[in-house]
Amino acid sequence: MPPAPIELHAPHHAGHADSIRRLLRAHWGFDELRPMQSRALAAALDRRDSLVVLPTGGGKSLCYQLPPLVTGGSSIIISPLISLMQDQVRALTGMGVAAVALHSGMTERELADADRAIDAGEARLIYAAPERLVSSRGRELIRRVRPDAIVIDEAHCISQWGHDFRPEYRRLTELRAAAPAATWHAFTATATPRVQRDIAEQLRLRDPALIVGDCDRPNLLYRVSHRVDAREQTLAAIRRHAGQAAIVYCISRRETESLAEWLSSKGVSAEAYHAGLTPNVRHAVQNRFMTDRTSVMVATVAFGMGIDRSDVRCVVHTAMPKSVEHYQQEAGRAGRDGLDAECLLLYSSADAVRWRQLMDRSAAEAGLEGPSLHQMELLAGVQRFCASMRCRHRALAEYFEQTYTGDTCGACDVCLNESPAVPDAVVVSQKILSCVARLDGRFGVAHVVDVLRGSKKEKIVMYGHDRLTVHGLMRSTPAELLRSYIAQLVDQGALEHTPGDRPLIRLTTHARDFLRGEREVTLRAPKLAARAETARAEEDWAGVDRDLFDRLRSLRRSIAEDRGIPAYMIFDDRTLRAMARDRPATNEAMLRVRGVGPKKFEEFGAEFLRLINP
Ligand code: ADP
Ligand code: MG
Ligand code: ZN
Repeated sequence: MPPAPIELHAPHHAGHADSIRRLLRAHWGFDELRPMQSRALAAALDRRDSLVVLPTGGGKSLCYQLPPLVTGGSSIIISPLISLMQDQVRALTGMGVAAVALHSGMTERELADADRAIDAGEARLIYAAPERLVSSRGRELIRRVRPDAIVIDEAHCISQWGHDFRPEYRRLTELRAAAPAATWHAFTATATPRVQRDIAEQLRLRDPALIVGDCDRPNLLYRVSHRVDAREQTLAAIRRHAGQAAIVYCISRRETESLAEWLSSKGVSAEAYHAGLTPNVRHAVQNRFMTDRTSVMVATVAFGMGIDRSDVRCVVHTAMPKSVEHYQQEAGRAGRDGLDAECLLLYSSADAVRWRQLMDRSAAEAGLEGPSLHQMELLAGVQRFCASMRCRHRALAEYFEQTYTGDTCGACDVCLNESPAVPDAVVVSQKILSCVARLDGRFGVAHVVDVLRGSKKEKIVMYGHDRLTVHGLMRSTPAELLRSYIAQLVDQGALEHTPGDRPLIRLTTHARDFLRGEREVTLRAPKLAARAETARAEEDWAGVDRDLFDRLRSLRRSIAEDRGIPAYMIFDDRTLRAMARDRPATNEAMLRVRGVGPKKFEEFGAEFLRLINP
């Protein structure tokens, strides 16, 4: 049963409106809730289970951090990563909210302190790792805490249809019996409707409120480009955001190291990060990034789940990720503060082959015959996303089964017209369609490309396809470009893939219209991303004294370094820009700046005021 979407007339929520506003201002320094936060909060305060799907940066944390402050009760939050828990607890403590974490990385003493706070009933928020909770110790904890709510962050980990299945998440329902009175709340950023249903079923949510926000991230500028020279393309992207935070994803550890080294030789402050580093080194690297001493992390996907730095201005994928879900998560780490950021994806058709090999290997290691059909479908999906030349925002929204309204997003390589239209598109597409027609829809894209490019491969000769009139018809067109054209013809409804993990390509019923030239067709030749900056990037800076902003950033960096805390925990970029625009001169004016609450003001206000008003 899919959970029913509901509109809430929240009596409790309404009654709490004043205290919510007060708490929001006092601890976070925010003036109001976002609409989806308001609905999520209403569900929690009405004591109704909920499933909340909001994109990265959508403000999920607030939805589960506020209710126990309103009611004076406690919530247990299950979070998959220790570093993420630590960051949140640190941030909350810094805002004057009583929060503790329980995990294996803590000393006896820290654990004893946390226990004391829990037993004294002081801890409003208790973070715990899933493996800790499903042990007998976890059930004991629940009996002691008697939580009002159990919150599961990154809830997609519970679904095998998701992209990051973790078996220990499956066992969380065992906790139901220990806390019969608690409501359950699942949060995730990336879940197709199928994964949403699975989460609700696996967690046995009771009549949950389903709160699904728009998954689009309008502040992200997406670029998808053929990989011509990964290093140069990456460097160009990083330079578009010079001096600012960036994450570069590579598939292998070796690649992260050589790319980080090369970037450093070009004067970029870059370091490699991957699971093969010793915990100490890894921690140090992560810390330098969090305190803004290193700008660019060149990482395998091991990096990021635990990263909350909200001012990442650029995320580069040097190769295709293994699913659109992964892409959404990883690229989603850009611009969490809502300010403009760029996501560049470099791909080549060789990437799919590489993933296939990696998947085969890990399947073999697990004693399986091969990767699951589901994995292969995800891979085919991301290949289609890369090869297509449709608006990236639209393509992502539709992948997650949402509708995208508006014609051009103004924030993707397609809508910005960065790839020129092919002048003789009609002729080009007729050549391709004729070839597919001759092959009778019985071959895959690779074979079609081989025939058109006049390959003499064994398979081509064996089928006698070197004798077809279409053989060699597009000899001078690079294979990558041809693949892109084919994907574009799929998008425009002239061609279609057969379902399954080894899809064939065939004509649709409309293909004839295209062949006769009765239907319009546009093809674009994707090329290296241009240097264009969006108009919206300018808007974010309207009225901001950039020089002052840079000085505020250095002040933040030195405070972060002194205290060993992540820079964004002091004030985020949005707040610094607001300061550099409004130039608050008095305590009152400073307290009105977005993101400056009383606690933060007390701690940092004077220093920043002094810098603004020397
Ligand atoms: P998520 O977990 O959904 O990725 P976060 O909870 O980390 O998102 O919040 C993302 C950003 O949005 C943070 O910088 C946070 O401070 C900011 N934010 C959240 N709620 C609000 C609000 N009501 N008003 C202003 N800023 C907010
Ligand atoms: Mg979060
Ligand atoms: Zn677009």
